[in-house]
Amino acid sequence: MKKELAIAGAAAFLAATAAPAADLSQAATRAVIANPLIAPWTGPYGGVPPFDQVTPALLQPALETGMAEQLAAIDLIANDPAAPTFENTIAAMERSSHMLDRVQAMYGVFTGTMSDDAVQAVERTMEPRLAGFSDQITQNEKLFARIAVVYEARGKSNLTPEQQRLTWKYYTDFVRAGARLDAVAKKQLSDINQQLASLYTSFGQNILKDENDGVLLIDKPADLAGLPDSVREGAAQAAEARGQKGKWAVSNTRSSVEPFLTYADRRDLRQKVWQMFVDRGDTGGATDNNANITKILRLRAERAKLLGYPTHAHWRLENSMARNPERAMQLMEAVWTPAVARVHEEVADMQAIADKEGKGVRIEPWDYRYYAEKVRKEKYDLDETQITPYMQLEKLREGMFHVAHELLGFTFKPVDPGKVPVYHPDVRVWEVTNPAGKLIGLWYFDPYARKGKHSGAWMNAYRSQERFDGDVKTIVSNNSNFVKGKPGEPVLLSWEDARTLFHEFGHALHGLSSNVSYPTVSGTRVARDYVELPSQLLEHWLSTPEILNRYALHYQTGKPIPQELVDKIKRAERFNQGFKTVEYLSSALVDMKLHLAGDTPIDPDTFERETLAALGMPHEIVMRHRTPQFNHVFSGDGYSAGYYSYLWADTLTADTWEAFTEAGGPWDKAVAKRLVTNVLSVGNTIDPADAYSAFRGRDADIGALMRDRGFPVPAATAEKK
Ligand SMILES: [Zn+2]
Repeated sequence: MKKELAIAGAAAFLAATAAPAADLSQAATRAVIANPLIAPWTGPYGGVPPFDQVTPALLQPALETGMAEQLAAIDLIANDPAAPTFENTIAAMERSSHMLDRVQAMYGVFTGTMSDDAVQAVERTMEPRLAGFSDQITQNEKLFARIAVVYEARGKSNLTPEQQRLTWKYYTDFVRAGARLDAVAKKQLSDINQQLASLYTSFGQNILKDENDGVLLIDKPADLAGLPDSVREGAAQAAEARGQKGKWAVSNTRSSVEPFLTYADRRDLRQKVWQMFVDRGDTGGATDNNANITKILRLRAERAKLLGYPTHAHWRLENSMARNPERAMQLMEAVWTPAVARVHEEVADMQAIADKEGKGVRIEPWDYRYYAEKVRKEKYDLDETQITPYMQLEKLREGMFHVAHELLGFTFKPVDPGKVPVYHPDVRVWEVTNPAGKLIGLWYFDPYARKGKHSGAWMNAYRSQERFDGDVKTIVSNNSNFVKGKPGEPVLLSWEDARTLFHEFGHALHGLSSNVSYPTVSGTRVARDYVELPSQLLEHWLSTPEILNRYALHYQTGKPIPQELVDKIKRAERFNQGFKTVEYLSSALVDMKLHLAGDTPIDPDTFERETLAALGMPHEIVMRHRTPQFNHVFSGDGYSAGYYSYLWADTLTADTWEAFTEAGGPWDKAVAKRLVTNVLSVGNTIDPADAYSAFRGRDADIGALMRDRGFPVPAATAEKK
C-alpha cells in the first residue's frame, strides 16, 4: 500500500496510516511502539483489528495520536501551495482519517460491548474532545475555502459522478457544521457541541447503569409460573452470573423483560418488571436523565438557530430522503390513526379473555404482551412456545447465509479460531466471498448479552470498503443480546429475536455489498431514513417456506417446523400490528415533536405526557423508548429527529418486497440483481430517491406499507415520496 506515499503534501501522516512501521515518521514510530492500536492493521484479509491488544489504558493515547496525525495531515492539505483539485483536497481528506478511523473502530467496540469503569472514564474524557476535534476540522477556513473551490468547479472538472457526489457531501457537511459562520459563532457552536458530547455520554452511561443494576431476583419456583423452560433456563443463568446460583434473575434489558411480560402468570411481578424497565433513566436518583434531556434539547435548539435553521429537526432532515420534518410527520400521521384504531380492536380481544378469567383484570401496559399471547393462542391456535423450539440461533444463522448465497451469491466460511483476534471469547468471525470465490470482507458475530454491553442489536462497520487507493475490504459485525443458555445447548430465539437477527444481517449485507471508490460514501453510510431499507427487507426472508423448512429445525428432534405451524405463522403475521406500530410510532412522534418545539424550555416528563394525551395514545401501551431512556435520540445526534426513519424506510421495504412478489417471488434473481445494482452496492454515491426509482421504475407509495401491516389502504395512495 505504498501508493499513498506518492501523494504530495501529507506524506508523513499517510505513511502512518497504511505503510509498515519502518516507513513511519519518527514520532509516529515511537507512538506505534508504545501503542499497538495506532499501527496499521496486520495479519490476513488486508489486516484485521488487533482486538487482542486493546486495553482501556491504550484507548485514550491512541485517540490522541490519531487526532494529532489527522490534524497534521489536514494542515498540509489546507496549506498546499498547489491550486485546489479534487485529488489534492477531497481525496486527500479521504486519506487523512485512516489512523483515527482504525482507533475509533476499536474504541467503539469497547464502549458499546465491553464497557467497564475504565472504558467509561475514557469516554467521559474523550467524547467532548472528539467533538472539539471535528469542529477544528470543519472550522478550518483555508480547508473549507479549498473544498468550496472544488465544489464550485465540480461540474466542469471531469470528475466521475461519485467524485461529484463526494465533493457535494464534503461541501454541504462543512456548511451544515458551521463552516460559513463568523469566528464568534464558530466558537459558540464548538462550545455547544462539546457540552452535548458530555451530555450524550452521561445519558448513555446512566441507561447502561440502570440496565446493569436493575434486576428482579426470584427465589421461589412458584413465582416462575407460566414461563417456558427456555426462559427459566436463561433466568437461572443470569442469576448465576450475578453470583446468585439457585435463583432466577430477570435482568433490566429488553431480551429478559419482554419474555417475562409475555408469559409470567404473576401479574404483580409483571408489573414490577415492567415498572423497572420503563423507569430506566427516570428513577429520580443519580442515573436520572431528565435534566440531561432538558439541557440537550436547549443546546440543540440553540445550535440550529446558530446554523440558520428554524429547529433541530429541520437541520437534521435537510439531507435525508424525507428532506423536511413536514413530510416525515405527514407519513407518521397517515399511519398513526389506523394503527390506534387497530389497538382498540386488539385490546377488546384481550379484555374479552381477561373477563372470562373473572379476576377483574382491566388491561394495563404490563398485561399487553401476556394477554396478546393468549389471544394469539385462541384466534390463531399459535403460541410462541410452539415456535421457539424450532428457532435455533445457529441454524437460523445458516439460514441467513443461505439467503445471502441465493440472492447475492455470497459464501460464508468460518475463520479458524485464533486466526483473527477477537475481543471476547463469544465472538466468531466468517470470511465472505463472491461467486468468483473472491474475498469481499469479514463478518464478526457477537450474539450474547453480557455485563457492559449495550442492550439492543446493531451492525457496526470496523472498516468501510474503498478502492481509490487499492482494494480495501469491508469488515462488519453484527451484535445482539440473546440470552446465552447452558454450555453446549442450543440458544433458542423468539420469533421477534429471529427477525432482529435477520434485520441486522441485512445491514451487514449492505456493508458487504458495497462497491464504491471512496469510504465516506461507502456501504451503509447513507441517509438515515434510507439505511433501514436493506435491513427491514431481509426480515421478510425469515418467514419464507424455503428458510423455515430447511433451517427452522426442532432443537431435540432435528425435524423441520411442521407445515401446519408455518401456515399458522403466516395467518398470524398481521397479528398485534396495532401494538407494534403504536409502540414504535409514539416514540417517533415524541422524538420529532421534541425537536420541532424550538427553544421552548422542555420538561421531558410533562412534554411526553401532554404529547401522548394530545395524540390519543392508548393507555394500555407505553412508548417503545420513553424519553429518559431514548438512546437513539439522546446518546448522540444519530437518530435525533430521526426515529421516524424506520417507518420511512419501511414504506420502501414493503414496496421492495412487493417488487419481489410481483415478479417470481422472494428468490427472483432479476429483482435481486436490480436491488444490488441500484441500492445495495452504491452506498451514498447517488441520491437515494433516484436510486430507489431506478430500482423500482417509479417512486414508492404508502399502499404496500399499509397492506403489509393489514391497515386500510388510503383511497388515493398519493403519499408519494
Ligand atoms: Zn436497523
